Amino acid sequence: DYDMQDKIDYVFKVVVIGDSAVGKTQILSRFAKNEFCFDSKSTIGVEFQTKTVTINGKVIKAQIWDTAGQERYRAVTSAYYRGALGAMLVYDITKRQSFDHVVRWVEELRAHADSAIVIMLVGNKGDLEDQRVVSSEDAVEFAEEQGLFFSETSALSGQNVETAFLKLLEEINRVVS
Ligand code: GDP
Repeated sequence: DYDMQDKIDYVFKVVVIGDSAVGKTQILSRFAKNEFCFDSKSTIGVEFQTKTVTINGKVIKAQIWDTAGQERYRAVTSAYYRGALGAMLVYDITKRQSFDHVVRWVEELRAHADSAIVIMLVGNKGDLEDQRVVSSEDAVEFAEEQGLFFSETSALSGQNVETAFLKLLEEINRVVS
């Protein structure tokens, strides 16, 4: 971020949620550092990463939080959601259960996060098309019912990752300004 620090107009907190192993950490590191790491869970991750982007002439610092594995123990606390303006709700297009659980994650957000939170539903691992079990149509339908934005990504190839984050940040910017 170098010398852009003092020019930042907004800091937006975004949380990344969803079942274990859907690719939350990899999506975040793809967006923040343009990296994909094949053995990501060997160290305990940092709690959040930041990336500064310009949207409609405003310099926005996205502060993006990762659960760092806590979702395994259902230990995602309300502190995690506090102040979050956006959520990336990730499932794995090759794991039906991770999509079936999306409804629980939406309930969790409705219970613990700000009611104005902008939610992007993300079907990750789009590079594994031959193993797909969740159709795009089902996900679009669910997203429309629930008032969520929707995108399919691949943290591995990088496909759509930046677009999904930018769309989320744009919508947050629209809500706050
Ligand atoms: P998390 O538990 O949700 O944070 O998931 P991780 O980011 O640790 O990823 C879980 C596993 O899925 C790891 O083995 C990753 O290498 C793999 N993975 C993550 N994203 C992708 C992707 O887009 N495509 C493929 N093929 N594998 C992925």
